Amino acid sequence: MISGIHRPAVVKVNLAAIQENIEHEVAHLQAGQKLFAVVKANAYGHGAVPVAKTALAAGASGFCVAILDEGLELRRADIVEPILVLGVVSPEYAPVAAANNISLTVPNLEWFQEAEKALKKTNLKLKIHLGIDSGMGRIGFSEDEEFVAANKFLQTSHSFEIEGMFAHFASADSADDSYFQRQVAKFEHMKQLLLVKPKWIHVDNTAASIFNKAVHSDLVRFGIGIYGLNPSSNPASADLEPAFALKPALSLESELTHVKTIHQGDGVGYGSTFVAEQDTVIGTVPVGYADGWIRKFQGFKVKVGDVYCPIVGRICMDQFMVELPEKMPIGTKVELISADPTAPNSIKKAADYVDTIHYEVACLLSDRLPREYYRK
Ligand SMILES: *Cc1c(COP(=O)(O)O)cnc(C)c1O
Repeated sequence: MISGIHRPAVVKVNLAAIQENIEHEVAHLQAGQKLFAVVKANAYGHGAVPVAKTALAAGASGFCVAILDEGLELRRADIVEPILVLGVVSPEYAPVAAANNISLTVPNLEWFQEAEKALKKTNLKLKIHLGIDSGMGRIGFSEDEEFVAANKFLQTSHSFEIEGMFAHFASADSADDSYFQRQVAKFEHMKQLLLVKPKWIHVDNTAASIFNKAVHSDLVRFGIGIYGLNPSSNPASADLEPAFALKPALSLESELTHVKTIHQGDGVGYGSTFVAEQDTVIGTVPVGYADGWIRKFQGFKVKVGDVYCPIVGRICMDQFMVELPEKMPIGTKVELISADPTAPNSIKKAADYVDTIHYEVACLLSDRLPREYYRK
């Protein structure tokens, strides 16, 4: 996809905030614990390589990604630290992972057998982490019998090096920890069945780590916290307070490209969902749903100059319109998302407005928006 460098619309990322968030988490780790920076999905929209390099400078020991290609992107950027793919990679690509020293997750016994067939043709040895489904209901071993069989398989096979075993929490961000405790118990049980002891047994995501749920984990898979966002983001429940302040890194900025006064009866946008009742000043912003600025943001207030102005009319693919209090010059700055967590257009407020979580708002920002990096 083409990145629009000749259009005034940019995702700005404060690398100093990212560095600080990781440094705080590193200081907060239990003795001996390591931090793996989760940079899947282009580092939650922030840009995988710049975030990964900042994470290393801040004390990260390795990385987690969701798909093999994201791991390869880091290797191409000369990152040599451990990389774990959290999702299921088709076993036929096990040799590609092994050749690039990328660790894969084993979701079940059948995967092992298929991956071994592929690896045997090459003489390569693959590093693996055993995935455990302790209650997330997504991937990994959940039955004792299959897990023991996989362990026995590992003992006889020469194609694999066991590096880790992990599970993922479904509700570490919730004040009610009954399901969390059930997942902990299931994981502890599966641990007892291990026949080979991996280097890293891990369960912590950002929420489990910063809300001090105090379970043993050799490494923390630190994701959303990197970006300065509180994982406790359910609009229906009060936020849990993290153990240290998080500093958001991302803002989304553009400019007015067109300003005009419309008159009574004039409509704005597809379907004319906004019709002027009197003379009204309308500004146009060159960002739309193709940039990930979805149609549900209609009515949300963005900051134009110093004023919060409502989006009027339907958001188009590439542009949207705002109602201005008065004529403003073309080129006036428009801040769609602020990095200030207390601003009315913070990413959390934006996510609440469209009934989702800030993870999703950040990930949706498309490659058409260039990423610009600064330190402040
Ligand atoms: C995405 C993910 C993480 C990171 O979660 P955050 O809530 O962003 O910290 C950790 N582990 C797994 C398995 C994941 O898929």
